[in-house]
Amino acid sequence: MTTAPDHPEDEALAPATRLVSAGRAPEWTGTATHPGAVVNPPVWRASTHLYPDMAALHAGPSGNADGRFFYGRRGAPTQWALAEALTGLEPGAAESGGGTMLYPSGVAALAGALLAVLRPGDVLLMTDNAYEPTRTMARGLLKEFGITTRWFAPCDLAAYEAAFCDKTRCVLLESPGSLTIEVQDVPRMAAIARDRGAISVLDNTWASPLGFAALAHGVDISVMSLTKHVGGHSDLMMGSASAGERWYAKLRRRAQSLGQVVSPDDASLALRGLRTMGLRLERETASALMIAQWLDARPEVAQVLCPMLPGSPGHALWRRDFTGGCGLFSFVLKRGTAEARDALIDALSLFGIGYSWGGFESLATPVDPAPMRSTGAWPLPGMDAADRFGVRLSIGLEDAGDLIADLKRGLAAWSSAQ
Ligand SMILES: *Cc1c(COP(=O)(O)O)cnc(C)c1O
Repeated sequence: MTTAPDHPEDEALAPATRLVSAGRAPEWTGTATHPGAVVNPPVWRASTHLYPDMAALHAGPSGNADGRFFYGRRGAPTQWALAEALTGLEPGAAESGGGTMLYPSGVAALAGALLAVLRPGDVLLMTDNAYEPTRTMARGLLKEFGITTRWFAPCDLAAYEAAFCDKTRCVLLESPGSLTIEVQDVPRMAAIARDRGAISVLDNTWASPLGFAALAHGVDISVMSLTKHVGGHSDLMMGSASAGERWYAKLRRRAQSLGQVVSPDDASLALRGLRTMGLRLERETASALMIAQWLDARPEVAQVLCPMLPGSPGHALWRRDFTGGCGLFSFVLKRGTAEARDALIDALSLFGIGYSWGGFESLATPVDPAPMRSTGAWPLPGMDAADRFGVRLSIGLEDAGDLIADLKRGLAAWSSAQ
C-alpha cells in the first residue's frame, strides 16, 4: 500500500502510527490509482478557489465547513491535513466532534482561545508561571477589554480554589510551567474549574498530546505552540488550539472573525516536523534525564527542576499523569552572581544562546522569574533564598555525553568567575 489508511485518526492505532498516517487522506495526497499520488499533502497555495459554475458559487457560503474549498482564509488541504493530524493525536477531540484551529504563533493561539471564551466583566485565573507574553496579554489586551486577571501560585490548590469568584469565567493552566517547570494537578484543577462553571484552557506546549492527553484529563481547550516540538527545527512559527465540539465551534468562529490563517508552506513544514516528533521527544527526554541526573550530583547545583528526574518537584504528578517528557528543564545554581552565570552560558559551545526551544539543537538561557511573578514564588518554596540564578536548557539531538562535557566546561567557568 502506498497510501494512508482511510481512517488515519483511528483510535485503535498507537500514537507512533498515528504520527505517520495522520492527515494523509487520499483526497489530499492522491489515491493509489492516481498516477500522481504522493506521500505528503502538497503545498496548496491559493487565495482564490475557482467555482465551476454559478450554481456552485451560490452553494458556497453554506460551504463554510471544515475541509471544504471556499476562500483562502478558510485554508486548503495542506492546512486541513495538519489540523486533522493534530486532532487525531489529541485523545477525546475527534470522538467528540471537535477539532483543531491553527494560528500564526503560539501566542496567537492563546489569544484565540482566551478571546473565544472571555467577555467584558469576566475574571480570568492565571497560573503564575504562565509564559511571559501570556501574562502580558492579560495585563494589556485583556485588561483593555474589561477582563480582570488574578494570578495564583502554580501548585497551591487551596489558593487556586480560593481565587474563584462568581465572575470567574476561565482558568489558564500551564503544566509544566515556563522557566520553573512546575507540574500542576491538571485533572483536579480542571475538575474544580468545571464545578465552578469555568472553562479550563491548558498551555500544553511542553508535553504535547504525546506526553499529556489534555482533553482526556478534563481540560476544555488545549493550546500548543507548534513553534516548539511540532516544528522541531527552529524555522517556523505556529500555534494550535484543540477542543471538543462545544469549544471547537467557538474557537473556529473567533479565529475566523479575527482573520487567522497560516501559510500552506508553514503548514507543510509543521507536518514534516510532526512525523518525527515522537522520535525526537523520546531521544530528548532520555538525554535530558541523563543530563539532569548528572547536574543533580554536581556541587555547584542547588536544585534541578526536571519532572522526569526522581526526587525533583513535580515528579510524582508527572509519573501519574504523563506518558512522556521532553528536553526542556531548568537548574538553579548555588549562590553565585549573575556575571558568573553569564560566564557559564558563554563557555558552552554546543548550546546556542537564544529564545524558544524544542528544536533539534540544544539551547541555554538564564532563568530570572522574580520580576515577572505576582505570587512571589522565587526562589521556589523550599529553596535557599541565596540560590537565585537559574539556567534553562533545551536539550536537542546531540550526543548526551558531549552535552555533559560542554556543561562541565560551563560549570568550571562559573566556579572561576566567582
Ligand atoms: C514559546 C511558547 C509560547 C508561544 O509560542 P510562539 O509560537 O513563540 O508564539 C507559548 N507557551 C509556551 C509555554 C511557550 O514556551
